[in-house]
Amino acid sequence: MLIVMEQNATDEQIKNVVTHVEARGYTAKPIPGGERVSIGVLNNQGAVERSAFAGLDGVKEVIPVTRPYKQVSREFHPEDSVVRIGDVAVGNGHFALIAGPCAVESREQALTIAHQVKAAGAKIFRGGAYKPRTSPYTFQGMGLAGLKVLKEVREVTGLPVVTEVMDGETFDLVEAYADAIQIGTRNMQNFSLLKRAGKARKPVLLKRGLAATIDEWLMAAEYVLEGGNNQVVLCERGVRTFVNHSRNTLDISAIPVVQKESHLPIIIDPSHAAGVRDQVLPLSRAAVAAEAHGLMVEVHHQPDHALSDGSQSLYPDQFAQLTTQVRAVYESFRQ
Ligand code: PEP
Ligand code: MN
Repeated sequence: MLIVMEQNATDEQIKNVVTHVEARGYTAKPIPGGERVSIGVLNNQGAVERSAFAGLDGVKEVIPVTRPYKQVSREFHPEDSVVRIGDVAVGNGHFALIAGPCAVESREQALTIAHQVKAAGAKIFRGGAYKPRTSPYTFQGMGLAGLKVLKEVREVTGLPVVTEVMDGETFDLVEAYADAIQIGTRNMQNFSLLKRAGKARKPVLLKRGLAATIDEWLMAAEYVLEGGNNQVVLCERGVRTFVNHSRNTLDISAIPVVQKESHLPIIIDPSHAAGVRDQVLPLSRAAVAAEAHGLMVEVHHQPDHALSDGSQSLYPDQFAQLTTQVRAVYESFRQ
């Protein structure tokens, strides 16, 4: 349930509502909005009686929250959220262009690509230091050495960095080095990892599971918000279907559905959806036309020599073409 306060409600009236909520054994979560404060009522097992709060001073209205993902839902927070990755805003009109290699492979590789994607217009650098690989015999990432390279990339280029966390053991390290912590497809329902992410002081990029419904994905995000971290960006990266012309199938329809259901920003990763380079540009244009809040694209200066995901990585000049084209699409419906 959501208790919406009057625009001119005093701090005292807000405190009084919180006290009433807590006195009934529920958790009160004040949510500052553009014009007025709302107070979310959480941890109720059954329905909360509206009349208990409707008559309190300063209360404008009491709205039932019908969705199971309460804090993530638009009912709970009607305005779009803005998430800050370093000094880059994502969501509510702020478009985030994230680019970089699948994995950090060396200092030279990461710095070379970072300079190239920055020159083309990327605002955030990506690169995995811990890689979830299907085969245990393939490159598993540079680990801590990779995180140190990412730190250097940030220092040299000024770009904030996003990198994946795979487990609780390395969470503190990744949190210390990253500007945003990626939780990958294979970990979307790793509930202990989601709980730890809820305690993190860095934003979380939560990828959709390979076969997750949107409800399951939003419930996963709910774990992070429930833990106390409301800085979550959702990332659609294709789901597993019967087709074999692409690695996965990009679910563009996730964009309007998530935007209807949730206030959290949603970005698109066309690279893991496609699995092949030549689909990345058209999928990126489509994602921007469907009003995604950003893109995350894999780019490599020598894709043929990449240690992971070379076949879906764009050459830097293709990425430059992508930024020009998606900017044109973006501007075409914002005039
Ligand atoms: C990645 O971003 O490199 C990655 C492994 O992504 P996903 O979890 O979407 O497969
Ligand atoms: Mn990858």
